[in-house]
Amino acid sequence: MVKEAVKHLEPYVPELTLEQLKQQKGLKKLVRLSANENAYGTSPDVAKALDKWHYADSNLYPDSNAEELREIIASQFDIKPNKLIFGNGLDEIIELLSRVILEPGDEVLDPEPTFSEYALHSEIEGAKLKSVPLDESGRIDLNALTREITPKTKMIWLCNPNNPTGTFLEPKAIRSFIAEVSKSVTVIVDEAYIDFTGNARDSVVPLTAEFENLVVLRTFSKAYGLANFRVGFAICSEPLIGYLQAVRLPYNLSTFAEIAATAAFKDQSFVAGAVKKIIDERQKWEHFLIKSGLPFYDSATNFIFFQVKGGDANALHEFLLENGYLLRNGLRKDWLRVTIGRPEDNQAVQTLITKFLGQ
Ligand SMILES: *Cc1c(COP(=O)(O)O)cnc(C)c1O
Repeated sequence: MVKEAVKHLEPYVPELTLEQLKQQKGLKKLVRLSANENAYGTSPDVAKALDKWHYADSNLYPDSNAEELREIIASQFDIKPNKLIFGNGLDEIIELLSRVILEPGDEVLDPEPTFSEYALHSEIEGAKLKSVPLDESGRIDLNALTREITPKTKMIWLCNPNNPTGTFLEPKAIRSFIAEVSKSVTVIVDEAYIDFTGNARDSVVPLTAEFENLVVLRTFSKAYGLANFRVGFAICSEPLIGYLQAVRLPYNLSTFAEIAATAAFKDQSFVAGAVKKIIDERQKWEHFLIKSGLPFYDSATNFIFFQVKGGDANALHEFLLENGYLLRNGLRKDWLRVTIGRPEDNQAVQTLITKFLGQ
């Protein structure tokens, strides 16, 4: 009845909503620090722009090309507007790339651990995924990836900075890597968290002018604080962009999503302010983890992955939850991922961790 590749898949289990979890645990307040949402919200211009929308337009299809959003992003990145493709969240772009490129039996490479969507869509297309462990510093091991390339390799996923480790590779290193890879292999750099490095030059978007087999991914869900609106995009050249456009659903973004993303993108000073606060708080987290003797990876993102050394990560996760804070568990034994929250919440979680460890 269904294709072989999907027979063994389990349905995605989404997180409980905050309301459901609050009820289940009998909590008055619950702060989610498990999904890397932007704790500082989104630009106030988003609400103002949405308020101007006319409900009388509800019967009309949205702008399939997201022209206004396309123009401002293209001009900011100094690229041609037709190098952009938008998705219902980056999730849809990840699915679309896999759908367009992969055939059963093809090989796909990704780092381990990394964002789980890459593996899911390889599997759905019947491709064979090889996951290559990170190096000791938690960074993507480009040399090890190069060694795994075979004539069957079609796609290589680089999540930079990497989720869940937060570690970052310099564009120079990625450039040397792509230069070595055959043009028949598509290299995808997922820059969902790149804004949090605090330096626009850390992106490999400019390399899309040089390499036709490079795709760079961005999302409005993290630094722009718009996870609920589902807007992500890819930057790449011909001929791939043409194939992606031919296969994507024509009305994958609502007008609401386009208006929200456009307003958020125009307010770069809001994003810069949120990023600055997150970087400050990230440094405080690092000091805290060092002081507490808890190992962690160098993060260039709005989250930190740390080891509950000398304690039980499941028990700490439960203890924090009972006290109103949800962290991400289950990505690696003994490790938790915490999203950088607002100052008062970071402080509260740190105090709770100290209490839990009996320090
Ligand atoms: C959150 C995340 C995404 C998905 O973003 P959406 O635009 O919300 O679908 C993609 N890649 C990575 C690495 C992420 O962490």
